[in-house]
Amino acid sequence: MMKKIAVTLQPYTPARYPYQKLEVCRKCDHFTVLGDTVCTHCGKSTLQPVEKRAAVTVQKKLWKTRLLLLLLIGIGIPFSTSPLEIGLLLACGIAFLSLLWTLQVRSTPALRRVQLQKMFQQYANTLISGLVRDHQAAFTVFQQGNKPLTYVMLREIGALVQTDQLRLEQIMLLQTFRLRKDMDLMLEPLLMEKFNVDLVAYIGELAKIRRDLLKENTFRYVLQYEAQILKLPDGEAILTSVAGAAVRKKRYLTLYPYLLIRYSRLLPRDRFLRLYRIIKSDTLVRSGPLYDEVIRIYEEKYHLDSDFRNN
Ligand SMILES: [Zn+2]
Repeated sequence: MMKKIAVTLQPYTPARYPYQKLEVCRKCDHFTVLGDTVCTHCGKSTLQPVEKRAAVTVQKKLWKTRLLLLLLIGIGIPFSTSPLEIGLLLACGIAFLSLLWTLQVRSTPALRRVQLQKMFQQYANTLISGLVRDHQAAFTVFQQGNKPLTYVMLREIGALVQTDQLRLEQIMLLQTFRLRKDMDLMLEPLLMEKFNVDLVAYIGELAKIRRDLLKENTFRYVLQYEAQILKLPDGEAILTSVAGAAVRKKRYLTLYPYLLIRYSRLLPRDRFLRLYRIIKSDTLVRSGPLYDEVIRIYEEKYHLDSDFRNN
């Protein structure tokens, strides 16, 4: 078995939208998601978030329209034949300018989103090559022996690139680390379509140290590949840990009762006690096969246990 290494991982800063971490170089249009301060393509400190680039472009366009209107007003003044006409022209011009300004300010967020879409379409190939370059940079760091930094880099790329290959690379690295509950770990973004032994092992570890990371998609994945998991040497233990994590919420008991029915007998006492308490207290799950199985196990193994009887 591979010896696991103790590591410290940089905390992960989530973004509302994945593209918010994407930066683009003002000089060479190189894209990166690695949070560098210097562009690795041209060597200049000219990286800026894509949102800022879009905002600047939109502002330039808005100012062009405003200046065009001012120019039109300016052109109109020499053609005015009386002070009254000049006054009317200026009044209408100012009113129209303030209306335009208000409308532009209100539509700016939508215009920025449109500009971002345009930018991603216009620079699609550059964007892809930028992310490929980021991936190569992560591989170089891996070759230099810095696995934690490699993982952190892949994690950032993974926010934008959702491929099983990239997920697998992250999982393979995570499997070389001694995982702790204080680490900034993730699970749902790493779930793959296909059955994968390393992913299952990772789920098994998290089911022990970070039960909160196991959610609907993970339970569905585990149930989908339950037969394959059971063939693994520690497959049953992994499924039991996952069942133990499902006990965390009542909702999971109603959604995945058969996971609990099959593995509740193997649950550690504390997890079974929690399951028993939920079963006894909640009317929704107080009937049906899960209830019957839990009561059967209670009567066989725990009926003399005072903690159970005090419910
Ligand atoms: Zn550059």
